[in-house]
Amino acid sequence: MTARNPVRAWLGRDINVLLLAGAIGLAAWPFFAGDAYSLRLLTVAGIYALAAIGYQFVFGHAGALSLAQGAFFGFGAYVAGILSVRMGAGFEVTFPAAIAASTVLAALVALPVLRLQSHYFALATLGIGQVVLLVAVNWESVTGGANGIPNVPALSLLGATVGRGWPMLLLVWSLVAIGALIARRLTGGLTGAALRLMREQPMAAEAAGIDIRGVRFAAFLLSALYGGAAGALQVHTVRVVSPEVLEFPVMVMLLAIAVIGGRTSVAGAILGAVLLVHLPEWFRPLERYYLMAYGLALLAMIVAAPWGLIGLLRHVRQRWLPEPEPPPPVAGPMPVGRPPARLEITGLTRRFGGIRAVDGIDLVVTPGESVGIVGANGSGKTTLLNMIAGAEKPDSGRIGWAQADIAGLPPYRIARAGIARTFQTLKLVDGTTALDNVAAASWHEFGGPGRDAARAAAMALLQKLDLAETAWKPCGALPPGLRRRVEIARALIGGPALLLLDEPAAGLTAAERDSLAGTLAALNNDGTTVVVVEHDLAFLEKFVARIVCLDQGRIIADGAPADVRADPGVVAAWLGQPLDEGGGHG
Ligand code: ATP
Repeated sequence: MTARNPVRAWLGRDINVLLLAGAIGLAAWPFFAGDAYSLRLLTVAGIYALAAIGYQFVFGHAGALSLAQGAFFGFGAYVAGILSVRMGAGFEVTFPAAIAASTVLAALVALPVLRLQSHYFALATLGIGQVVLLVAVNWESVTGGANGIPNVPALSLLGATVGRGWPMLLLVWSLVAIGALIARRLTGGLTGAALRLMREQPMAAEAAGIDIRGVRFAAFLLSALYGGAAGALQVHTVRVVSPEVLEFPVMVMLLAIAVIGGRTSVAGAILGAVLLVHLPEWFRPLERYYLMAYGLALLAMIVAAPWGLIGLLRHVRQRWLPEPEPPPPVAGPMPVGRPPARLEITGLTRRFGGIRAVDGIDLVVTPGESVGIVGANGSGKTTLLNMIAGAEKPDSGRIGWAQADIAGLPPYRIARAGIARTFQTLKLVDGTTALDNVAAASWHEFGGPGRDAARAAAMALLQKLDLAETAWKPCGALPPGLRRRVEIARALIGGPALLLLDEPAAGLTAAERDSLAGTLAALNNDGTTVVVVEHDLAFLEKFVARIVCLDQGRIIADGAPADVRADPGVVAAWLGQPLDEGGGHG
């Protein structure tokens, strides 16, 4: 085997060669257009790049449409401007103060706004900017009112002045480089895969132990931190702070940079910022048609590259220079199993309006058992499973697990307590490989830098479930039987003591059902407790020793499969009913 040249390998991976070319171009550019105005434009582009890299944490990575980034940017600018003009503070004070002020503002507003769903969240975050703008306009004695504060002194760092032109440009772009490196570190590796899982399949992410609320909170704060930093740089560059910095066009500019550059790529934020700051200048000779041309250019970019410019470059690269599939990673040890525990449910009830979906269920599952839950459509099976997994909150009742009552706990805490689940409708990230779909679910365990260890553990599970061939294949390209298995592999990566499966055989061929039953039997033999909601009795009988039948939210039979099958109540409520779409009963 020939040794791979690490430089060539680095250049060949992803968009690195484009990044390198961009960085060289950026560095060389002012030498050709070195007038004061060009240097200033490039400095402003750097400032917007920093604010946009920050914005990507919440908008891109956490997938929440925040419209508060302009407010954090403007707030940072005001804090730095006021401290600089009124108190004569240097950059060593104004910079951290602006960062701290914007981050504290974000922490204060996060609690109420992060609870809101999508468009309400967007509106609420837009409101933050309006409130800060009102304060800036009306608190004249401090902010200078509608006129703002002119004559902000040049940036001074520990007594030395950083002048306009080259010095300011270099300072700004050095901070952009630092901000970019930190952002890449924070969102790369296994964290990137976990964030994608969180964005595309939030329920699956929570079931993998990811605290979505906590991640969103951190992302919102990080956005504000970068916004405040950029605001402080802005005020020392333009030397004035006025309400304009808090107005909507700033937010629109940041949103456009993130969308056009690419939502989750640091390189995209930089590319987008450089482009959007310069675009109006390029169109200026068109005079009164300039705004129209600018608008059309933006529209054309969004239509041509809906995944952003970086997405487009990646797409082109993949088309013309496809990367060969690497050999599968070496499998590591199997995940360490959690200590076995007893599941003890008493008086569990959940109502939806007038319907008692689950009506006072008492159920004990002992460690190592394998239990099937059956019943007619709408008998409460999924609701019961969802309550055990935390996806539904019970109205009353207790769910005892490992000496604790877990009823009503959020799904991520139940997952961390050793209970894993799969879903009735598959919740995989289709654009991600099978390997990374599984590995992402161990982010809570391994953390961002632990991608190799997570992949090794994921590979061990893929091998165990006969999925080794699929490691580098995107999940969207796999047949249903294999996709079901990938979801089971993902559920197993935390080494759960209890595995809950919701209709795992739905949509599978007879051969796939047989093989899945074998897999579940083997898992159960290895010590994992298994609880399966299913319609297919014949499938269940291959690996469960006990069946519980529900009817209208209550248990009507509980015992050995043959006894349940023969139970007159079960025949009346379920087996005597017509078959469901999934070809139930068996
Ligand atoms: P299936 O076999 O069709 O999946 P199931 O036995 O899993 O059915 P559940 O999905 O638990 O049954 O539903 C039990 C009852 O609760 C049904 O009448 C259903 O319509 C109702 N229900 C479930 N979820 C909700 C909800 N989110 N809102 C309102 N009603 C609901």
